[in-house]
Amino acid sequence: MLPASMLAMAVDARARRLRPARRPVPQPGPGEILVRVRACGVCRTDLHIIDGDLPPHRSGVVPGHEVVGEVVARGAGAARFDEGARVGIPWLGRACGRCPYCRMARENLCDEPLFTGYDRDGGYAEYAVADERFCFALPDACDDLHAAPLLCAGLIGFRTWRLAGGPQARRIGLWGFGAAAHIVCQLAVAQGQEVCAFTRPGDASGQAFARSLGAAWAGGSDERPPRELDAALIFAPAGPLVPAALATVRKGGVVVCGGIHMSDIPAFPYALLWGERELRSVANLTRADGEDFFALLSGTPLRTHVRSYALADANQAVDDLRAGRIEGAAVLVP
Ligand SMILES: [Zn+2]
Ligand SMILES: [Zn+2]
Repeated sequence: MLPASMLAMAVDARARRLRPARRPVPQPGPGEILVRVRACGVCRTDLHIIDGDLPPHRSGVVPGHEVVGEVVARGAGAARFDEGARVGIPWLGRACGRCPYCRMARENLCDEPLFTGYDRDGGYAEYAVADERFCFALPDACDDLHAAPLLCAGLIGFRTWRLAGGPQARRIGLWGFGAAAHIVCQLAVAQGQEVCAFTRPGDASGQAFARSLGAAWAGGSDERPPRELDAALIFAPAGPLVPAALATVRKGGVVVCGGIHMSDIPAFPYALLWGERELRSVANLTRADGEDFFALLSGTPLRTHVRSYALADANQAVDDLRAGRIEGAAVLVP
């Protein structure tokens, strides 16, 4: 028997905090599954939603789009997962399937998307519903806690890495060594790439963390890497990193911004972009990204570093992430 109500941590936009709330356990609609949440990662996007950096889509929304849980009920017609199956719920909760972007296999750019923990309630709760078509089966090798950050930090990191040339780039720079970069670093090192990690200036422990995961060089964002890079991946939400990263890539190199929000990019000399350097962003994910990412993981020894928090302590997790006190990823456990 499922309980009638559950604990959820909902956004209080005015206070820019999360507030505990008793909510009815949601009912799965047609094609949807009800998931008992076993772990939910805390993503920087959640901070942007709580802080109002992103325009609010839904008042009192429950954030959380790195959800690992167990299917406990299925709506009409939902048959993709058995009850009891372990699933992951990512940021892309639904794409329309009809718009030009969906039809050109770019559902990440869908004109009418529903995002988990933004347009619909997410995993900062004991239960969540999801469209089963947009959920993932997860590799058995990874327990719930360590699998949670794969669902956004891992997936968006993977898409960013792919758009930065994937394994073709020999030397890559990772700017902002948080949850996404700590996963991409391991992935890139396993592919034989040389990784340079850029942290906040003076963040010696962040740099040591990057080296412990195989980075060949780690330094502050005000430093130069020992050699020119083929690609730079920016995960920190700081616009001034864009010209800084452009200055480290070779002719024809690429700079990819992996975050959903960034402070303004300062004006910079055209010479930094000259030489056919490219600058682009990454938006969301496609289901194909997920399938490819989890397939790649099955052959890659990769371990996420996590710090777990009780669901009721979600504000603490958010504060620690904001203050840069977390090595790897924060994960809520109901
Ligand atoms: Zn669409
Ligand atoms: Zn995210």
